[in-house]
Amino acid sequence: MIQTQLYIDGQWQSPIDQGTRAIVSPADESVIAQAAEATRADARLAIAAARKAFDGPWRQTTIRDRARLLNKIAELIDRDAEKLAHLESLNTGKTLTESRTDMGDIAATFRYFAGLVASEAGAVNEAPHHVISRTLREPVGVCGLITPWNYPLLQAAWKIAPALGAGNTVVIKPSNLTPLTTHHFTQLVAELDLPPGVFNLVTGGAEVGAELAESLDVDLVSFTGGAFAGESIMKAATGNFKRIGLELGGKNPNIVFADADLDAAVDYALNAAFFHAGQVCSAGSRLMVEDSIYDAFIGRLAERLPRIVIGNGFHGETQMGPVQSAQQHDKILGMVQAGIAEGARLVHGGKRPAGDVFRKGYWLEPTLLADVTAGMKIAKEEIFGPVITAERFRSEEEALRAANDTPYGLAAAVWTRDLDKANRMSRALRFGTVWVNDYHPYFPEAPWGGYKASGIGRELARIGLDEYTELKHSYINLAPKAMGWFGA
Ligand code: NAD
Repeated sequence: MIQTQLYIDGQWQSPIDQGTRAIVSPADESVIAQAAEATRADARLAIAAARKAFDGPWRQTTIRDRARLLNKIAELIDRDAEKLAHLESLNTGKTLTESRTDMGDIAATFRYFAGLVASEAGAVNEAPHHVISRTLREPVGVCGLITPWNYPLLQAAWKIAPALGAGNTVVIKPSNLTPLTTHHFTQLVAELDLPPGVFNLVTGGAEVGAELAESLDVDLVSFTGGAFAGESIMKAATGNFKRIGLELGGKNPNIVFADADLDAAVDYALNAAFFHAGQVCSAGSRLMVEDSIYDAFIGRLAERLPRIVIGNGFHGETQMGPVQSAQQHDKILGMVQAGIAEGARLVHGGKRPAGDVFRKGYWLEPTLLADVTAGMKIAKEEIFGPVITAERFRSEEEALRAANDTPYGLAAAVWTRDLDKANRMSRALRFGTVWVNDYHPYFPEAPWGGYKASGIGRELARIGLDEYTELKHSYINLAPKAMGWFGA
C-alpha cells in the first residue's frame, strides 16, 4: 500500500495531527493508498520554510542554475515516466495512453521553461549617458500552488516549472483525491540538491488551500479548479493583495458548419467530449451543429457511441475510463436528468454501463443529449463528464451569439472549410483558445487560460513565466549633481 507524507523544509514528515486519507481507485473503489492529510498548521510550517528559503540563499541562484534545475527535473520525469503514468491512471482512472501522453507533455513543459528562463535577461533602457536604467524581472516570492484532480501532475507542472524557473519558492497542494503523482514528483525533487524550503508539498483539502490563499507570507497563489473555490481564493487573497492566477472551468462550444469535413468533425466531436471521460476543463461537450446537417450528424454520433470501449484504463483496448469520484458520478447523472426534464432527447447513455465489472467504481456510459436549446441549464453549466449536449443553429450569427452567451470563456472550436468564416468566428468568439478544424491541441509555447469566468491570467508561453515575476525599473545615476530647484 502506498503511503504518502508531507515534504516541508527539505524533510519528509507526517502531518502534525497524524491525519490520513484513504485514496480510492475510481475503477473499483478499492483503497490504493493512504495519503497524509494536512491541516492549516502544516501549511503554516511549509509557508514559513518557503519564506525562509526565499529570503535566504535561493535568491543568489543564477538563471543558468535554474534552467539546469528544470532540465534535470525533465530528465527525472523521463526516467520515471512509466511509473508516473501508472500512478496517474491508478488514481484518476484515465487510460494509460492518456497518462503516458501527459508525462511527455510534463517533461516538455519543464524543458520549454528551462529554455525560456535561460534566454531571460534584463533590458537596458534608453537613458542619459550618466544613468544606467534597466528593466529587471525578479521572482515574486513564496508561491502557493493549488491543483485539481483531473490532470494532477500536468497542472502542477504548468505552475512549478515557471515558479521555480523564475526563482520563487513553492508550496504545492494537490487535490486530496489525487495526490499520488505530485507525491512521486516530490520524491524526484528531493533527489536534487535544492536548499531546504525551496519546494514543499502539503497534501490536504480546502483548508490547506485556504491557508495558502489567506497567508500574508504567501506572495502569489496560482489555482486551477472550480469557480466556487476560485471565488473564495480571490476574496482571501485581498488580505495582502497577493498576486493570483485562476484557471477555472469552461463551457466550451464545438461548432460544426455544414461545409465542414464531416468525417473529421464527427471523429473530433467524440474526442472533444469523451477524452478523459469528459473531465477536461476544455472538453467540447457543448456541440452546436448547423441545421442542414444536424440530423445526419446526430445519427452518425449515435452509431459510434455504443462502440466506445469503456473499461479499466490499464487495459490496452480501453478508450474511456470511469469518472473520478462518487460525487462527480452523481452530479453528472443529475445534470443528465435535469436536461431530460428540460426537454432534451436522450439518444444514448445516461446511466451506469451494464455488467458485473461496472458494478463497483464510478462508471458512466458515453452520453448524447440531442435537441438541447441555448437556454437550458445543461447548455450553460459545466458538466465535467462524458456527456455531449447537441444544439442546432441556423446561421453564423445565431451560432456566435449562443456560443458567447455563457459566463465562461475557456476554449471553443469551429469546423468549416470556409477560411473567411473560420477567421471571422475565431476573432469573434470570446474564448482564450479557439481551434479551427481541430480539438484539444495545446502546447507549452502557446498561452492557456480563459476569458470571463474561466479565470484570470494565463499559463504556459512567455506570459506563463512572466506571471511568476515582478517587474522592476532599476535606475542608477552614476554622476549625481545638485539640482538647485527648491529654495536654492
Ligand atoms: P475544486 O475547485 O474543487 O478543487 C481544486 C483545488 O482547490 C483542490 O486542490 C481543492 O482541494 C482546492 N480547494 C477547494 N476549495 C478550496 C478553497 N476554498 N480554498 C482553497 N483551495 C480550495 O476543483 P476540482 O473539482 O478539483 O477540479 C475540477 C474543476 O477544475 C473544473 O471546474 C475544471 O474545469 C477546472 N479545471 C480548470 C482547468 C483550466 O486550465 N482552466 C484545468 C483543469 C481543471
